[in-house]
Amino acid sequence: MSEQFDVVVIGAGPAGYHAAIRAAQLGMKVACIDAALGKDGKPALGGTCLRVGCVPSKALLDSSRQYYNLQHLFGDHGISVKDAKMDVATMIGRKDKIVKQFTGGIAMLFKANKITPYYGFGQLQPGNIVKVKQHDGSEVELKGTNVVIAAGSDSIELPFAKFDNEYIVDNVGALDFTSVPKRLAVIGAGVIGLELGSVWKRLGAEVTILEALPEFLGAADAEVARTAAKEFKKQGLDIKLGAKVSKAEIKKKEVHVTYADGEGEKTLAVDRLLVAVGRKAASKGLLAEGTGVKLSDRGQIEVDEHCHTGVDGVWAVGDCVRGPMLAHKGFEEGIAVAELIAGLPGHVNLDTVPWVIYTEPEIAWVGKTEQQLKAEGIPYKAGSFPFAAIARAVAMGEPAGFVKVLAHAETDRILGLHLVGVGVSELVHEGVIAMEFNGSADDLARICHAHPTLSEAVHDAAMAVSKRSIHKVN
Ligand code: FAD
Ligand code: NAD
Repeated sequence: MSEQFDVVVIGAGPAGYHAAIRAAQLGMKVACIDAALGKDGKPALGGTCLRVGCVPSKALLDSSRQYYNLQHLFGDHGISVKDAKMDVATMIGRKDKIVKQFTGGIAMLFKANKITPYYGFGQLQPGNIVKVKQHDGSEVELKGTNVVIAAGSDSIELPFAKFDNEYIVDNVGALDFTSVPKRLAVIGAGVIGLELGSVWKRLGAEVTILEALPEFLGAADAEVARTAAKEFKKQGLDIKLGAKVSKAEIKKKEVHVTYADGEGEKTLAVDRLLVAVGRKAASKGLLAEGTGVKLSDRGQIEVDEHCHTGVDGVWAVGDCVRGPMLAHKGFEEGIAVAELIAGLPGHVNLDTVPWVIYTEPEIAWVGKTEQQLKAEGIPYKAGSFPFAAIARAVAMGEPAGFVKVLAHAETDRILGLHLVGVGVSELVHEGVIAMEFNGSADDLARICHAHPTLSEAVHDAAMAVSKRSIHKVN
């Protein structure tokens, strides 16, 4: 006999817990199933993001940045500290405490919203029934008038570099090294490679990043990527482009990584290897025979623009469907689906999902890049402004980078905002808001921005679109 719910959510990551909480707010009876366990072996809600993704990586980025600044920036302020040391165990303990606070916070929100959590692996059966294999071995069946699949994603494993969770690791291992590896190699110069590579580089590791593609950060605006690459080089991150890795062998407590570049085959000996070559939808074992839910050839759950699978009452959101694999994209899809189920309007505009890479300098963007506009034959104008001419950035000792506004050549409508520099993870939202309101570069240029703030770079870049920036020669 299965228990009946209005909504059964599979997965309590960003997409799933947003769907569950919003559905409960709208008066529905909700169950949410999650299979994950925390570091202490107990169930931990919040998904990849809270356990082993966004939140712990930002905690380590912040700790390592404090340490780096102490050694490289504080001297300019006249501050000197002798014998600064980094205690890795304390840093990891701080990160674990933050993770526990936030995963526990989801459990508390579930209780407050009367959502029933189930801890175990859920499999969708025909007829909107979800069979849950709980951690104690028992099974329960839940029947949902609606089922929301929010199963998320897992790391892609390379066949020649299998994870052993000690020497060859993915994000989970690289967030939990017990000491700073002397030499760290990373396969993949993407978001995880750059963020976690930066963490361990700042703490003293020699970091080599091997990227298969000849181009660095191809999804970012090319000028932003060039500026970021220059800054990473100054920090000592060794990024090798066009490097095709063919082998990774563990020999005498070292990992020997074989790769080929334009100069032929080479081997790199390191203490740890982080594989960060992308993520794949976690759809394995999720669907029993005959549910009617379709998977793409990449294993993603197929959905329409409203996250509906085409099977009556079955929806899918977050990393397990098309679109960027970002927590906030999952948040919005979870909310939209709960509202659609309640008969309200719900929609996510994938064209205005912001991207942020939390390196130093930070990289952020929304909308189209110059290379995309050129390829699509869309006429545009660009205006940019450097942080080196922003008093606040210089006062902070962070003059690297710039802001660029791209606007339609005829209508002036903003098509993209691209930023590299200090604090741009916050500034990018000026572009998101302006684009959601169909704003023009002129609108942004006429909005008063406080002085002295970093946001003035956005203001001046918008003014530069029509060659009227005040603080630079146009
Ligand atoms: P997930 O967070 O993966 O959650 C899915 C949950 O469902 C998991 O808990 C899983 O155990 C559970 N589950 C799966 N299948 C089943 C099943 N059959 N039964 C029961 N439970 C199941 N994104 C950002 O926006 N900003 C960042 O700064 C950022 N940093 C990141 C750093 C790292 C190191 C990583 C790896 C990712 C990062 N991401 C970041 C990406 C972000 O974590 C994901 O986009 C986000 O977690 C996806 O949310 P989701 O709910 O779709 O899936
Ligand atoms: P990614 O897609 O960002 O980068 C993977 C990189 O690996 C690419 O540059 C790719 O060309 C390269 N690559 C692929 N196969 C390779 C091979 N065999 N050898 C060498 N290089 C290879 O993936 P990721 O860094 O693993 O991160 C996964 C996803 O997690 C991201 O795409 C993003 O959606 C999410 N994430 C987001 C944030 C954030 O928002 N700040 C942070 C971390 C992760």
